[in-house]
Amino acid sequence: MSLLDRVPEYIRSLVPYEPGKPIEEVEREYGIEGSIKLASNENPLGPSPKAVKAVAERVSDLHLYPDGDSFYLKRALAAKLGVSQDRLIFGNGSNELIELAVRTFMRPGDEAIVAHRAFVIYRLVVQAAGGASKIVPLKDFTHDLEAMAQAITPKTRVVFLANPNNPTGTIYRRREFERFLERISAEILLIVDEAYFEYVGDADYPNSIAYQVYQGEGRTILTLRTFSKLYGLAGLRIGYAVGPKEIVGLMQRVRQPFNVNAAAQWAALAALDDAEHIRRTLEVNREGMEYLEREVDKLGLKRVASQANFILLRVGDGRAVFEKLLRRGVIVRPMGAYDLPDYIRVTVGTMMENSRFIEELKTVVKENE
Ligand SMILES: *Cc1c(COP(=O)(O)O)cnc(C)c1O
Repeated sequence: MSLLDRVPEYIRSLVPYEPGKPIEEVEREYGIEGSIKLASNENPLGPSPKAVKAVAERVSDLHLYPDGDSFYLKRALAAKLGVSQDRLIFGNGSNELIELAVRTFMRPGDEAIVAHRAFVIYRLVVQAAGGASKIVPLKDFTHDLEAMAQAITPKTRVVFLANPNNPTGTIYRRREFERFLERISAEILLIVDEAYFEYVGDADYPNSIAYQVYQGEGRTILTLRTFSKLYGLAGLRIGYAVGPKEIVGLMQRVRQPFNVNAAAQWAALAALDDAEHIRRTLEVNREGMEYLEREVDKLGLKRVASQANFILLRVGDGRAVFEKLLRRGVIVRPMGAYDLPDYIRVTVGTMMENSRFIEELKTVVKENE
């Protein structure tokens, strides 16, 4: 048996993640310039200026290995969240924490429950570990917690929830979540991905950290958050998980000692305290979302009500609209990979970016009529 023959089918059949082209390449190919990217839910204001300064001041320390315990960042974040430090773990983006959790708690043959049209990374990671994903359809573009609870079997080890969900931007609310928790035993790891937590304005939005000890009972909830969105640090790759200390402790053993790079730690620590950048980011998002909703409604296009920093729009042939916008220098995300061929997902940008997108969309939609 050759080395290649020994690679299991679940590895061979993985479909590689399709990365977008660098913006410079797209511009060269189409002979355009000044294009805007509204495709990856990045912060349109850029990184926190305090984070930029913190990194600039310490570039000459880059020959040193990072702090393997993220000491200062962990201390600051634990204080901010009101949790003990042993309940926090950092990752090379929250995506690494998804992988660490699955590697720690799933074996080949185990099952995970994931929503159809939830973040594709969950399924990818589960498959790479030899696990099986049970896919549960959304209801009104939202996680159907009732159906997800029903899908649990004795083989289920992990349940993935994204709140708000990507690519729909929708949330489930407190009552539903509490009913769902009643049906989940503590032997199941419930991973709640809250990458867009800070953007949500709804008063009934459940903060899953508050439920980690619920009605006196321990639930095995692992909450994922990130510095990639609100804090504008996607390029540095840093996210974190909050969970019961026993769960976090096991994941600490599995992770690489220097999984979070030094610049990411400096920047995240500074960004955490940058109240002004956070305030402006949320304000720009709120104004931008209101503007996009209004303009999309005028165009008569269907949209999904979003609580995050992006919006799902029904445009007809999503791939064609994506291509046409691309040629006009506006990069959005087609949704074929999510089984939503009629849709595009658009990140809320600055006001200039939003109005440029709407102008180009108007032209493209007219052409299609
Ligand atoms: C953007 C996003 C993340 C963030 O991933 P990082 O690895 O922290 O950059 C996580 N989950 C969802 C659903 C997202 O959309």
